[in-house]
Amino acid sequence: MNSNRPSQTDSTQKAPTAKLPVDQDPDVIYRELVGNLQAYMREEKLDTIQKAYQFAAHHHRDQKRRSGEPYITHPLAVANILTSLRIDIASIVAAILHDTVEDTDATLEDIEREFGQDVSNLVDGLTKISKIKFRSSQERLAENFRKMVLAMAQDLRVILVKLADRLHNMRTLDNLAQVKRQRIAEETLEIYAPLANRLGLYGIKSEMEDLCMRELKYELYRDISNKVQIKRAERESYIADVRTILANELAKYGFTNLVVYGRPKHFYSIYKKMVERGLEFEDIHDLFAFRIIVDNVKDCYEALGVVHAMWKPMPGRFKDYIAMPKANLYQSLHTTVIRPNGEPAEIQIRTHEMNQTCELGVAAHWMYKEKNAPQGSGNADLKKFSWLRQIMEWQKEIKDPDEFLEAVKVDLFQEEIFVFTPKGDVIQLPAGATALDFAFNVHTKIGITTVGAKVNGRMIPIKKTLKNGDIVEILTAPHQKPGKDWLSFVTTSKARNKIRSYLRSEQRDRSRALGKEMLAQELHHFGLDFDKLKSAEIEPICRFGKESTLEDVLVAIGYGKVNPNELLSRAFPARQPKVPEKTEVLKQGSEKPRTTSGEKKSGENGGILVHGIENVLINFARCCHPLPGETVVGFITRGRGVTVHRGSCPRALDLDPQRRVEVHWAQESEDSRGQHAAFLRVTAQDRQGVLAEVTSAISACGANIQRAQIRVTPDLSGILEFEMTLQSLTQLQAIIRKVESIPFVQKVERMSTHRINKK
Ligand code: MN
Repeated sequence: MNSNRPSQTDSTQKAPTAKLPVDQDPDVIYRELVGNLQAYMREEKLDTIQKAYQFAAHHHRDQKRRSGEPYITHPLAVANILTSLRIDIASIVAAILHDTVEDTDATLEDIEREFGQDVSNLVDGLTKISKIKFRSSQERLAENFRKMVLAMAQDLRVILVKLADRLHNMRTLDNLAQVKRQRIAEETLEIYAPLANRLGLYGIKSEMEDLCMRELKYELYRDISNKVQIKRAERESYIADVRTILANELAKYGFTNLVVYGRPKHFYSIYKKMVERGLEFEDIHDLFAFRIIVDNVKDCYEALGVVHAMWKPMPGRFKDYIAMPKANLYQSLHTTVIRPNGEPAEIQIRTHEMNQTCELGVAAHWMYKEKNAPQGSGNADLKKFSWLRQIMEWQKEIKDPDEFLEAVKVDLFQEEIFVFTPKGDVIQLPAGATALDFAFNVHTKIGITTVGAKVNGRMIPIKKTLKNGDIVEILTAPHQKPGKDWLSFVTTSKARNKIRSYLRSEQRDRSRALGKEMLAQELHHFGLDFDKLKSAEIEPICRFGKESTLEDVLVAIGYGKVNPNELLSRAFPARQPKVPEKTEVLKQGSEKPRTTSGEKKSGENGGILVHGIENVLINFARCCHPLPGETVVGFITRGRGVTVHRGSCPRALDLDPQRRVEVHWAQESEDSRGQHAAFLRVTAQDRQGVLAEVTSAISACGANIQRAQIRVTPDLSGILEFEMTLQSLTQLQAIIRKVESIPFVQKVERMSTHRINKK
């Protein structure tokens, strides 16, 4: 090649044949693929690869990538990435075909006919996943993630191909718009790289992370990569030195058939270290990991002994992933030693087989299978991945997609620690797990009744974070119940889910009881008795309550989602209490000038509408103190206007039916309702701080406490009674729910009237 030749000539020469650069020529990439496959696959299988190449090339024939190269280069490159995992032939074929159904006129039926069921299932899975767009919104992110996990559980190979697809897309981001590149990089860092890590695919994970970093934090990326480059020669001699010393020393002890190598850590892991430990690049010394590979497990520990005899181990940095493999099946010994010059060096020791698992990750299993077992079973390997099984169980249990996402993210993407039961059983937990997480991990029953914990023989708070190697003992008490505050410090999704479901069922029980009481009162008003409801009466209640069972209706009422009066009015229109004479509705409350009049209180009439009577004085009965939002009934008094009682007030029943008048609450804005008295009785364990929590809960809901009284019963329960002013039944219900959720609160009741100070 004549380098002096003008480039002009060069391009004109090439133009007529439209010859592509070598790395963009499909045939060249294809030959490379075949070469890689030949290294681990029998020759006769390569016919299928040839066929897949022709099929995909034909269907993608008119398509180009953004860069201008033929589209087929992409699926071929994806297949090529997968050969490094020594993956089976069906996955390679699926990789070559992965975009044909999505992007061309090829159908799944075509693929099944040409390549068989196994391949077409894989392509189907990939087509489905390709429709997932993660970043669109949190909600869809969650739902889509669930789909992806499902696809993974159906056949792990789908995810392997998907990861290779994403890696190649990351490598070839350059021609996309900035916004899109960023989105893809963020998604990769958040979902795909951790997934690759979880599947033990460290090579893919590291490259993804570095590519993402280059995209998202370019300045830092360039800075670190420059610094790593600058001292390259120095570092290479450092690596060679350490390697020689290790090999020589180990040889003295008869380790002759060993491999020792060192390599720099990838940029993103250096970056993470800088961020996590708040260090400058110059302060990070273990930029390299050295790896010693020996024949068997016994040799691993012996080699470790040799290393530790030679260099001092750094305390707390030894990890035995042979005895306790990581969730992705990774096995190795890790130690960090201090060399005589004071520099630390990280050393990993493992067998050849472990090394293979480390490099191929989950794919190592297909490689072993290739010889005898038939292809196509992704599920056999599922058993080995307990975390994946766990996810499958959650997927059945957890209905809320957001909770599911949270569960998966927490447990899938965290490093793990190993702790022990007092009997010496190993429990694996994500880093950051607390003693309470441990308790729930052992058994839900234990978790729910946990009152305290001992770590290494000493009492600790249950919210304390555990460390590797801790021996944890859980103390329980039968009366203990989970509190809402527990959710604030547990970190595993198992504990979180169990606590949530406990709280939910408890809350549900309380809401049902409250709802039953409210509905029973209301039914009375409609001439019905809750305990004597017939199925013909229950049916419309359910129908108009939009729930499938009466039980669910009660819960909905208790939660304040359904108004019992409105429900019954619609369910039993014929039974509606009769309106005396005229049907004209006067809005007493709303006619008052609310904002202009200073001396008139805005809620003078409390927003009460009286059927057929104008300008009437309204009193609220002191026997029952009704609140806006609940059913009320009015009675015309002699000279004191209309007194409004709760519909259920026993005193109201005794009053003269002739004087009864229908009243109801105006639909007004919150601030025009005025203040109404309400009374609450709270029974709680007599603990320090409970009163403060209850009062602040009441205030937080916007009510004013007028008076409070506390007494302690002989059985040491604290009884707190409150007189408050507030604006509506909804507000009171919110207060009740909030107070009920406070730890040690046993019971919360609304009282109809003043009993405070009467005791
Ligand atoms: Mn693709």
